[in-house]
Amino acid sequence: MSLSSASHSTSANDRGRIGSAERDIVALGVAMAALILFVGTGGTVLPQIVRAWLGIGHSPDTLITNALLLNIALIIFGWRRYTELTKEVGERRKAEESARQLAETDALTGLLNRRSFLPASARLVTDVCETNQGAAVLMLDLDNFKQINDVHGHKVGDLVLTETARRIEALAPAGASAGRLGGDEFALVLPYDRRTPDKLDQLATSLIDAVGAPIAVEGKTIQASISAGIARTIESPVAEQAEECAQALLHHADIAMYHAKKRGRNGYAWFEPTMESELRFRHELETGIRAGIPKGEFVPFYEQQIDLASGELVGFEMLARWNSPQFGLVSPEIFIPIAEDIGVIAELSEFLIKQALEDAKQWNPRLSLSINISPIQLRDPWFSQKLLRLLVESGFPPHRLDIEITESCLHENVGVVRSVVTSLKNQGIQISLDDFGTGYSSLAQLRSLPFDRLKIDRSFVTELAHEGSNAKIVEAIVSLGRGFDLPITAEGIENAEVLRIMKSMGQLKGQGYLYGRPENHAMTLDRLAAQNLLAPESELPAEDLPPRRPDLRAAG
Ligand code: C2E
Ligand code: MG
Ligand code: MG
Repeated sequence: MSLSSASHSTSANDRGRIGSAERDIVALGVAMAALILFVGTGGTVLPQIVRAWLGIGHSPDTLITNALLLNIALIIFGWRRYTELTKEVGERRKAEESARQLAETDALTGLLNRRSFLPASARLVTDVCETNQGAAVLMLDLDNFKQINDVHGHKVGDLVLTETARRIEALAPAGASAGRLGGDEFALVLPYDRRTPDKLDQLATSLIDAVGAPIAVEGKTIQASISAGIARTIESPVAEQAEECAQALLHHADIAMYHAKKRGRNGYAWFEPTMESELRFRHELETGIRAGIPKGEFVPFYEQQIDLASGELVGFEMLARWNSPQFGLVSPEIFIPIAEDIGVIAELSEFLIKQALEDAKQWNPRLSLSINISPIQLRDPWFSQKLLRLLVESGFPPHRLDIEITESCLHENVGVVRSVVTSLKNQGIQISLDDFGTGYSSLAQLRSLPFDRLKIDRSFVTELAHEGSNAKIVEAIVSLGRGFDLPITAEGIENAEVLRIMKSMGQLKGQGYLYGRPENHAMTLDRLAAQNLLAPESELPAEDLPPRRPDLRAAG
């Protein structure tokens, strides 16, 4: 219904209601007058009629008899109108009640909706002000709802939500109110005994267990899980500030829930004040990343890759750096996971790859370029096409490019990853398995993708420098590589002793601080110039070279 037609019908309703109310007043007036008249005339006329009937008197005047009959008719009419009116009032009250319920509850689950949950929480806070209790809010969010919806469809998704709501309500203690605040977000507000806050821990655990129990839907078994955040009033709240207090409880429980998710989901966390500043910091990073991509704040740095036996430079690994005006030079270990979370990793990576391909054209053509690719990018079936377009645009030969992917790619959507990787390989691009040994890839998974190289994670290699460390894991990985016919690169070679041990294990490539920290484009060019490793066309007078980007210091 359009807004204008809605307002039109509302005013028609109003007019109808006013008209009927006017009629009610007139009818009531007439009935009252009839009643008074009846009392006035009936008292004398009725005995006359009765006497006339019995034949002991003469009948009253016809006019008065008729007036009495009219009186009686009017009283009956008034009575009928009165009963109708009582019925109408009852129905109207019912309609108002169901309209109120519709406005306050969530249509799917029957729980309170977001709009009414805050007032309900404020009422509870007001109530506990008069007792010795405290108020607590548990924020509950399904961990895998999007996946359930995507895989099983919205109908099953709805059933999972209703069942989750039912399970939450079943565990809600006396005096609690449950709400559905959004898609898969639920909340409980409840009074608790301030001497036993651990009851809230028990409640959170029971809720997590209950929601995590399998749900049988349409012949399928669905497994959902939930993360919870808990916030509670520590001191007795002031009744006048009940609404602010309830608002703060909801906000804090939400922050705690977010932390529970970050800690690995299917668990709960209590709100702590430090979480709020962490969240603010994270928010600043997110905004900074989004704004920094188009401003060119993300720049490639390059780490040398060496043939260990000859000591010769064979290529570089591109490592991203964020040159943030607010935070300084930021490590990829901080911004890459955030860029993945907020969905900008593909855009960021494309930006960096473009710069790196341009930079690498100034290197000697026998030097390779390795780039790190996030598992999220490999889930995109168009990734290989996008990368090939970048190669074509920059005129960089595919055989010089090496893609580094981590073991986590092997766990999800192996089908899509395999087709992307195969398509890249068909173009001549090399594929390396990065950080090998830190994940949980099985041998079967290792064979499921056509890798060209294994990179031993730096944690195993740097460990070799420590007194009494044993080289067994590194040896095992090297022999595994040999078994699979995969060449090996050792990351994290920090000193000559580690280099000596690694060299003793065979023909390997390596990289690490022993050879230098990752450097920016300008410093990399200086290094290459000193080793006579610039591309032939780059060995031109400086004024003929493309402009260098602003100089940034080398970073570890
Ligand atoms: P990675 O691919 O394993 O990169 C090697 C990391 O080890 C780099 O850290 C490098 O600076 C550090 N490193 C090198 N030599 C040594 C050494 O001798 N000792 C120690 N302790 N560390 C050494 P960085 O640059 O902080 O990068 C961290 C990770 O961030 C990278 O690990 C990679 O997984 C990721 N990353 C970097 N750039 C990108 C990117 O453009 N895209 C994606 N998706 N990930 C990236
Ligand atoms: Mg790497
Ligand atoms: Mg690595």
